Amino acid sequence: MRIAMISEHASPLAALGGEDAGGQNTHVAELAAALVEQGHDVRVYTRRDAPEPPELVRMDGVTVVHVPAGPPEALPKDALLPYMKDFGRWLVEQWRGDWTPDVAHAHFWMSGLATLTAAKQTGVPVVQTYHALGTVKRRYQGAADTSPPKRIGYERALGRAVDRVVAQCQDEVRELVRMGVPRTRLAVIPSGVNSEKFAPDGPAAPRELERPRILTVGRLVERKGFADVIRAMRSVPDAECVVVGGPPGSSVDGDPLAQRLRAEADAVGVADRIRLVGAVPASEMPTWYRSADVLAAAPWYEPFGLAPLEAMACGIPVVAAAVGGLTDTVVDGLTGDLVPPRDPRALGVALRRLLADPVRRFAYASAAVDRARQCYSWKRAAEQLIAVYEAVSGLRRPSGVMA
Ligand code: UDP
Repeated sequence: MRIAMISEHASPLAALGGEDAGGQNTHVAELAAALVEQGHDVRVYTRRDAPEPPELVRMDGVTVVHVPAGPPEALPKDALLPYMKDFGRWLVEQWRGDWTPDVAHAHFWMSGLATLTAAKQTGVPVVQTYHALGTVKRRYQGAADTSPPKRIGYERALGRAVDRVVAQCQDEVRELVRMGVPRTRLAVIPSGVNSEKFAPDGPAAPRELERPRILTVGRLVERKGFADVIRAMRSVPDAECVVVGGPPGSSVDGDPLAQRLRAEADAVGVADRIRLVGAVPASEMPTWYRSADVLAAAPWYEPFGLAPLEAMACGIPVVAAAVGGLTDTVVDGLTGDLVPPRDPRALGVALRRLLADPVRRFAYASAAVDRARQCYSWKRAAEQLIAVYEAVSGLRRPSGVMA
């Protein structure tokens, strides 16, 4: 099949860990590669955010297309809405040319708008993955939510206009149904993890201190709950906490949230046990997971949560807030512990108990590796998506004919 993936702000070529570059970038890159692996022709369309790169870049057999929409410079994703019409019009020109996709898969709501503009004029069927929902963001972030005010309305309308919506976890299904997305148009296909990259065996980042290590990973944004992990450290007196994510290297020190986290660590008396390492290249992430005894994930909400799954694939037990995708990936009492969200005391107690119990950690680790491999491969995600693509494009193979 010819598959167009539209990911307006999240390029598969971007460095990760910054404010707008994280799970969606990984998801699009890995999924595109898995679809190519199965013999499909995949183009990823992303907004041009720098003048230099060529229009087409090849990556692992995937063609990444830089779409001119808005100024060729980095912009916050919440500022991109005015350029989505141009993005869509540009797609129309492309798809009327020599490469017409059988299906277009939009990632994030703004990509969905651009894709629908193009689909209306070209007849290409549209599949939508939201990655995050405005209703959820508004609920938890309130006035701090910088999304365009029309986001929630647009997301509702998209859910009714596209051919299929792909949800990433059961919690998202409930949200989508409440938004009025018809169940008949919904498919649940979780993200995956690359178990060749993220595996228990391999080098680990060095540990200078003979202290248990708690790792926490993510874009340096408040809703990832790093402040709660820092507060939880009061209950885990012997351990160090390493925070991965944010601006790269020592520039993390200038980050406003990093400064607030350091102030919080000072205030609760754990500053000497907190290390902010900044963004780490994706290729080095496995070494950081392997260096840890446990991963703490304390988001306020989480559409899917790749980092905990990557830790699981590396054989690291996870203590996570019971929110969103984490309630699907982390099996409480089997691959990790789930604790109430925004409850640093409960998080601290769970971390302390787990660090004090090597037998349980070992049992969680092996069950976690097994679950990540068996249930969350990108190959499985790609196969399930192909079934959806075939259904909406009318290209379904006769039954019994194998791909
Ligand atoms: N990541 C990375 N370097 C960093 C921090 C994160 O490569 O310094 C990657 C991480 O391995 C994962 C993604 O960014 O693949 C984060 O995805 P997740 O779903 O956990 O969070 P999101 O960014 O989608 O909120």
